[in-house]
Amino acid sequence: MKKQKIFICPKCGSVNWKIPPYFKGSGLPIVKLCGDCGYTGTFLESDSDKVKDTQNKLKEKNKK
Ligand SMILES: [Zn+2]
Repeated sequence: MKKQKIFICPKCGSVNWKIPPYFKGSGLPIVKLCGDCGYTGTFLESDSDKVKDTQNKLKEKNKK
């Protein structure tokens, strides 16, 4: 089974992202826009079965 890569917002852990409008048509953008917190930048890449892990780690990190 092929593993699916999921992109996660490093700020809020959301997987709800879109490509910023100003990047449309410029090839493959590495920058994504978070649909929840508005973060723009590079997202964390995670295996689909590790999404929860990554989100939990983010939560820990953001507690500080
Ligand atoms: Zn976010």
